Amino acid sequence: MEDIQVIGVRGLPLIRAGDNVAALVCGKVAVEDGDILCVASTIWSKAKGYTRNLADIIPTGRAIRLGKLNGEDPRFVQSVLDASTDIIMEHPFILSEMSFGHIGVRAGVDQSNIDDDMIIFLPPDPMKSADELRAAMKAASGKDVGIIITDTCGRSFRRGQTGNAIGWSGFTAIRDFRGDTDLFGHVLKITEEAVVDEIAGFANFVMGESNNGVPAVVFRNCGTWTGHDNLYFRGDEDITKRVLKKEWSSKT
Ligand code: GDP
Ligand code: MN
Ligand code: MN
Repeated sequence: MEDIQVIGVRGLPLIRAGDNVAALVCGKVAVEDGDILCVASTIWSKAKGYTRNLADIIPTGRAIRLGKLNGEDPRFVQSVLDASTDIIMEHPFILSEMSFGHIGVRAGVDQSNIDDDMIIFLPPDPMKSADELRAAMKAASGKDVGIIITDTCGRSFRRGQTGNAIGWSGFTAIRDFRGDTDLFGHVLKITEEAVVDEIAGFANFVMGESNNGVPAVVFRNCGTWTGHDNLYFRGDEDITKRVLKKEWSSKT
């Protein structure tokens, strides 16, 4: 198998509502069958209009209270509450769950890489977005390209943000090693590799965070794998969430 190749997609314009992301990417890179295209959620959301003007948001009492508590614009806080289905922690920042299962700080709402007073939401259904982008890539290039929609996320236990996959299409999120044998013949009992997050992490490294202007990255020769899509813990499986919720509710 050939070594993996990583191609940052340079020279894309500032993305506006209505832009065809797939066609713009295909104008910069000749993709091949089996490539994986990582796209920053930021540009997908700008293209799809998942954005709002802060001036249009009227904060509720809860948003005003949390805005004071966390030192944030209550309209911004309201947008975070609107994007969330479950608030896990209110302070020192809002940590919440979104309808598609992702848990993130400030619901992934961004105020960077967009005009003043505008905010960018994560796509409301990123799996559907990834399917849509994959079909658009097929239409624009004739090639079957896998998709990962990424976002820069904080994490527990370690300082620093990394790229996470929030939507994907064309492969499973997890490569399941359970039942495989290691070099010594031991059967693996636990290992499920979160492949989409590993690739998203490297894509995020290539993208950079500020004014790099590289919102898409193509990976070639990643091979194939089998596994499943249950990336998010369900219900009581998520020990961290359970403990955080208990800790937070005991304080209010
Ligand atoms: P997020 O991680 O999805 O929240 O996105 P970021 O705001 O961190 O941006 C990721 C990368 O895309 C950075 O290199 C940005 O400079 C770049 N980027 C963001 N928006 C645009 C855009 O509209 N056009 C281009 N060409 N690059 C962008
Ligand atoms: Mn983001
Ligand atoms: Mn980022």
